[in-house]
Amino acid sequence: MLLGPPGAGKGTQAQIIAGRMSVPAISTGDIFRANVTGQTELGRQAKAYMDSGDLVPDEITVAMVTDRLAEPDAKAGFLLDGFPRTISQAEQLRDSLTELGHVLDRCLELVVDEDELVRRLSGRRMLVDGAWVQRDDDKPETVRHRLEVYREQTSPLSGFYRQAGLLSQIDAIGEIDEVTDRALTALGFPDDGPAGAPAAS
Ligand code: ADP
Repeated sequence: MLLGPPGAGKGTQAQIIAGRMSVPAISTGDIFRANVTGQTELGRQAKAYMDSGDLVPDEITVAMVTDRLAEPDAKAGFLLDGFPRTISQAEQLRDSLTELGHVLDRCLELVVDEDELVRRLSGRRMLVDGAWVQRDDDKPETVRHRLEVYREQTSPLSGFYRQAGLLSQIDAIGEIDEVTDRALTALGFPDDGPAGAPAAS
């Protein structure tokens, strides 16, 4: 799983690392946003929390992730991005994984200082239907609140996973591929070729 504040680059790195490892990247933020766009009941429940930069309540989030982890493509492993985000979610994840017969291999924390995060988030735009748009929760006042929520509710996970002997931390400032190299090294993964590929001869 990837741990790190909003703007640390979890989504970007999750896609690349999961691709290298041939496992799905499971992002709770992406699942929520897809549900908001698709105007589902889950999206309706999550939207107000997301827009204000608060966490969606654990009951909703944990049920959603538990369902996702039970899907066939997650049988051989997965990379979590944006979950768990509270100690309670981490404890419930531990229980779900036990039930599914999985073990968490590692928590990789992307470390970025707060000034850099504010710079990145306020400049971030997404391409939607051919136009660059700012995510509602990337507005400056919401960004400040998300960072506060991270500090209070999510950053304690670093200690939680350190105690469990599962934490690795990397400096997540630099070019995307430099950060990817640090991540793969920290995960004990070769930095070229897909998972399980035979060594070049
Ligand atoms: P970021 O990491 O940049 O804040 P995400 O896409 O991971 O962005 O999350 C966007 C929003 O989705 C969060 O601010 C929160 O409202 C909701 N969310 C995502 N993951 C969780 C989670 N594990 N628990 C509760 N809410 C979540």
